[in-house]
Amino acid sequence: MRVLYAAAEIFPFAKSGGLADIAYALPKALSAEADVTAVMPLYRFIEKERFNVRATGERFTLKFGGGRYGVEIFVGTYEGAEFVFVYNTLLCDRDHLYGPPGEAYEDNDLRFAVFCHALVELTKRHSFDLLHLNDWHTAPAAVLARDAGLRAKTLFTIHNLAYQGVFDPASLKRTGIAKRHFDMEECEFYGRVNWMKCGIAHADAVTTVSPSYAVEIQEPEYGCGLDGFLRRHKEKLSGILNGIETTVFDPMNDPALAAGYGAGCLDGKRICKESLLKEIDMDKYELPLFIFIGRFTEQKGVELIIEAAGELAKRQALFSILGEGDPGYVDELRRISERYENFHLRVGYDEALSHRMYAAADFLLMPSRFEPCGLNQMIAMRYGAVPVVHAVGGLRDTVHPLGGAQDICGLGFLFDTMDSSALVECVDSAIALHKRGTVLERIVEFNMECDFSIERCASRYLELYRRLV
Ligand code: ADP
Repeated sequence: MRVLYAAAEIFPFAKSGGLADIAYALPKALSAEADVTAVMPLYRFIEKERFNVRATGERFTLKFGGGRYGVEIFVGTYEGAEFVFVYNTLLCDRDHLYGPPGEAYEDNDLRFAVFCHALVELTKRHSFDLLHLNDWHTAPAAVLARDAGLRAKTLFTIHNLAYQGVFDPASLKRTGIAKRHFDMEECEFYGRVNWMKCGIAHADAVTTVSPSYAVEIQEPEYGCGLDGFLRRHKEKLSGILNGIETTVFDPMNDPALAAGYGAGCLDGKRICKESLLKEIDMDKYELPLFIFIGRFTEQKGVELIIEAAGELAKRQALFSILGEGDPGYVDELRRISERYENFHLRVGYDEALSHRMYAAADFLLMPSRFEPCGLNQMIAMRYGAVPVVHAVGGLRDTVHPLGGAQDICGLGFLFDTMDSSALVECVDSAIALHKRGTVLERIVEFNMECDFSIERCASRYLELYRRLV
């Protein structure tokens, strides 16, 4: 079985979130059982020398929407695995993936249409059996493949329904999507073109990145306007829980850490905590350290932390926050970190610092309003930080309440209602647990041994691939 796995971002070449992590780890894990080629755009900022990116000699011109777009195919290598890159100047020659922070390039429809048409061309030329598409950037390839009469099956994975790729109606023509698809049951959405809808309508199967999210998005609260549409397609919709690449996220062998450690030998974790606290100018090693890592958006529940900050500041606990995003949230978090000495904030994207924080932390805060899957909580558990989460989506599938059935993997603190007092209550329970050192240590070690690996996730995708092809 030959699979073309397409994503707009793949770690370590380009990453804005969890999609990039999965798009790296999943094809790699699948390659033991299937012939999977991972493909993404060759953005200008990708380090070509570092990844030995070279031209394959394959070139073609795409003609659609009255335009002609020259495409060149490259390959690159990372950790022994090969990746395919699509180069076209309009798609790739930018400083950012989708636009400057908080903005989107105006021609993102045309940029990613070039990518989608190129995917269809590659599928045709190289006789792939399955085209695995991820999120809105690649969704129209499902309808384009069908219109091109390809025999390849298409699988569309929704990593986040909140980003749908919605454009004005004129976009249809310039992106080369046939006019007949501008229909309520296909790509039309309140008079505009919706790429996510196109993908859902035309893919042979649709997955979300956790089982709970597949159910939640069929309800108005989480459906982002597509709940009714998703209910109509529910026979082909299922949820497969994401996993993490356990060689990238490995506290025993992580080059970012001051010391390595694992379940049964947590001394290194203590060194990591001391070292991070020194780095961020905090002392009081004996206090529990809570971290938050992620995009500062409504999705991630940042406003809950902001609302709770006054209360949390009174606790015997430390809070360290890393992320970037909405300037309003950045300002508020800055004010909080300047005002309260037990709050630390680092604005920016810093992969190595994130690893040091997971390793140092006693607890991870993840009060997401909605969460398609969430990787942070799985990474946190692997690094021995106990998650404190809102019980939603993938968080509900991976974090189980303490005191419940003890053989279910993934233990932490959950709150049901999106309000700051519920968060503070959970933090208080976590602080109380921290005082019971050996009990906490048992939970930490239990979580560290849980299997959140990408291999487990890959075996589920493989079953689906086999059913489809
Ligand atoms: P998202 O909704 O952003 O995709 P996920 O939980 O699926 O969230 O994945 C987030 C990934 O990005 C994790 O690997 C997390 O550690 C990482 N990450 C998020 N923000 C930052 C940041 N500011 N610096 C470093 N890593 C980050």
